[in-house]
Amino acid sequence: MEEVGTGLLDRLDAMQRVAASAPGGPLLIVAGPGTGKTRTLTHRIAYLCAELNVFPEQCLAITFTRRAAEELRHRLDGLLGPVAEDVTVGTFHSLGLTILRENADAVGLPADFRIADDAQRAEARAEAGDDDASYAALLRKQDLVDLDELLTLPVTLLKADRKLVQRYRERWRWIFVDEYQDVDEVQYELLRLLSPADGNLCAIGDPDQAIYSFRGADVGYFLRFSQDFTDARLVRLNRNYRSSAPILAAAVQAIAPSSLVRGRRLDPARLDPEAPLVGRYPASSVADEADFVVRTIDELVGGLSHRSLDSGRIDGRSTSLSFSDIAVLYRTDAQAAPIVDALARANIPVQKRSHDRLRDRPGVSAIARELRHADGLDGSLAARVRLAGQVLAERFAVPTLDGAGAVRPEDVRSAVDLLTPLARRCGDDLPAFLSQLATGAEVDALDPRAEAVTLLTLHAAKGLEFPVVFLVGAEDGLLPLRWPGSTPDDDAIAEERRLFFVGLTRAQDRLYVSHAARRSRHGTERECAPSPFLDAIDPGLFERFGEAEPRRPRDRQLRLI
Ligand code: ATP
Ligand code: MG
Repeated sequence: MEEVGTGLLDRLDAMQRVAASAPGGPLLIVAGPGTGKTRTLTHRIAYLCAELNVFPEQCLAITFTRRAAEELRHRLDGLLGPVAEDVTVGTFHSLGLTILRENADAVGLPADFRIADDAQRAEARAEAGDDDASYAALLRKQDLVDLDELLTLPVTLLKADRKLVQRYRERWRWIFVDEYQDVDEVQYELLRLLSPADGNLCAIGDPDQAIYSFRGADVGYFLRFSQDFTDARLVRLNRNYRSSAPILAAAVQAIAPSSLVRGRRLDPARLDPEAPLVGRYPASSVADEADFVVRTIDELVGGLSHRSLDSGRIDGRSTSLSFSDIAVLYRTDAQAAPIVDALARANIPVQKRSHDRLRDRPGVSAIARELRHADGLDGSLAARVRLAGQVLAERFAVPTLDGAGAVRPEDVRSAVDLLTPLARRCGDDLPAFLSQLATGAEVDALDPRAEAVTLLTLHAAKGLEFPVVFLVGAEDGLLPLRWPGSTPDDDAIAEERRLFFVGLTRAQDRLYVSHAARRSRHGTERECAPSPFLDAIDPGLFERFGEAEPRRPRDRQLRLI
């Protein structure tokens, strides 16, 4: 054990080690992007379990997105081995779901209550009008809960039952929250209930990456932490291990006008004198910008002719970069289409996160219900999903007189295809599978190992890192975002600047920022000025790439097909 523990802390710098090995009690780690906050969090859990005899099942690690939770789980597995499975890792919503399932009867729900899908919510909303209390009652009649209620109901429940609070406090004696800057009122309330004022609550975050105030998140909870939790220890981390020095310098300059962290320091740990400057491409149009992305990816990964068309893998020529090292980030989902089209025309594989939820697709809920009730089914979860699909498809193939209740066989088959990747990721953990489905697992979850360029909104990119990042659409009107007829106030502009900062700091080795001179938005093509956020960056940190290059004839040919 000792050897494991010592080895663990060896992988941290002095300040990270202070944070990871701090004694129990409230602990707040405030640090910039790429300073190893998530790394410190996972090492702290591993250290506590390996060195201080904390039981993994006493640890609860919470974050905000499923992707971030998966990343935490993955890193913990690597550090702790199989016992990492005993650590509870999840999102705030999955935590709420766990508490609610365990106490469903106390709020008048059956244990197998379901989360309302969009259609069910819209129906209840239409019937209830503005009356929130009767909206909830309508859902309750169908054994449904709203997604927001996954947090509000457990808070109400815990507030009313001190014994229950005590039970959870005994179960999870060590609580960790990553991306703490995004915490909102009800989530904070839940943390306060789950942790006593002198409890082992460790919150980790960066006020300058707060990008969810529109959903009610509030960086004021950094201050509240020191007020509500006694003798909270504060640790700051200053060394950025992620980005090359020019990328980091550009990011630090970009955030400076709105930084919420007084005296912020972010020192580059990487000092390669050969590191490329930040690429800047002033595109003439959206199509030209997309071509720039394709051309540059092509140069970075290897010639088009060296790629096998079906798999997107690089044949022959050895190259150190692959498609999975590259991300294209944008402010609004609408910007993705021209980039996806251009990449597809060049046969570059792409994975784009969709926000469509699996549970809203036809057939999915039927299969989930079948799995929940069919304890007898054997085999891996993926095999059980297939089997449940077969059973359902056969059942539905028999026509009923009125056709009522038949979710169609082809829907069931496509639902099986959609569910199989999630089932594989969950191994044979049925509760995890059902909980991910209920809390909104997306149709196209991102696979970090997929050999494809990743396309993400800036919001979805938080916490992630990629060797190569393209930040497209760095234009006034997109960054900061402006809706027709509305002018963002200072707070909204500051939040947009933080979003820009989040985008820049995802890059490890190469960062390209581009802006188009003309863009269609809301049906009208307009001239666009570069983002004013770029003005805060020293021009000497940019390498400007040439103006529009003529389109390649090959593209034109393909477009005709
Ligand atoms: P963000 O604010 O974007 O979530 P973060 O502070 O959580 O960033 P991490 O993702 O934990 O940062 O770390 C950034 C990168 O730096 C990772 O690749 C991590 O492995 C690496 N790193 C962190 N600390 C060290 C260290 N002491 N030695 C070497 N690499 C490190
Ligand atoms: Mg992190």
